[in-house]
Amino acid sequence: MLITVPGFAGVRQGVQHFFGTRHDVPGPDRSALVVVSVKQVHGTDVLIVDHPVSGAPAIEGGWDALVTDQPGVLLTVRTADCVPVLIHDPVRNIVAAVHAGWRGAVAGIVPKTLAVMAQRFGSQPASLSVSIGPSAGSCCYEVDEPVLGRLRDSYPDWRSLVQETGTGTAKLNLRGLVRGQAQSVGVREDAIHSVSLCTICLPDLFHSYRREGVVRGMMVSGIMLSVRRRTARRPRGKRRAD
Ligand SMILES: [Zn+2]
Repeated sequence: MLITVPGFAGVRQGVQHFFGTRHDVPGPDRSALVVVSVKQVHGTDVLIVDHPVSGAPAIEGGWDALVTDQPGVLLTVRTADCVPVLIHDPVRNIVAAVHAGWRGAVAGIVPKTLAVMAQRFGSQPASLSVSIGPSAGSCCYEVDEPVLGRLRDSYPDWRSLVQETGTGTAKLNLRGLVRGQAQSVGVREDAIHSVSLCTICLPDLFHSYRREGVVRGMMVSGIMLSVRRRTARRPRGKRRAD
């Protein structure tokens, strides 16, 4: 079972996307030419795939965001409580996949990805569509001082993202943080789709590092620009004269 967000990006716009659940190990889509999967390190480095790739590319280093303008390149991220974020620019025909845990989110991985899209491909935030996937919800995601301290240092309005649960502990709205960051750099509010499913309190659907205490498995989410089929040529006799 895969979760898709119809209002976000679909086949009609030349895009395929999905958020994984624990019940599927998505094999490469048959129309994907290549699947890009990288080592994630809770950092803010953005990998740009701007040339044709094939086979199983060996990608060195650690990356938490992937951007491409190449059709048939399926960008994937793996999560189990962290936030998978998929981005589509229908104007420039660019897609991105982001892995945003609290560290990456607080460090600004999402605004950084949008900045890289703007610099490299001319993507305007106001044209973008963003989908925020299943992840630790504010219903369950309790954090303590190390996380809250970093949040306070980075966001003046951090209080709107937390609900105090005790001395030095609070429930954090991680998806809300990502949404706020995207809006703050110019993504339209109505172009941000949030899948309000919590990985911690929905064990039938999702793996959760927080709930299980160990990595039992990860969900795979992905996005790809479809490979356009070549349109059939008109029969010669019916060709319009120039
Ligand atoms: Zn929950």
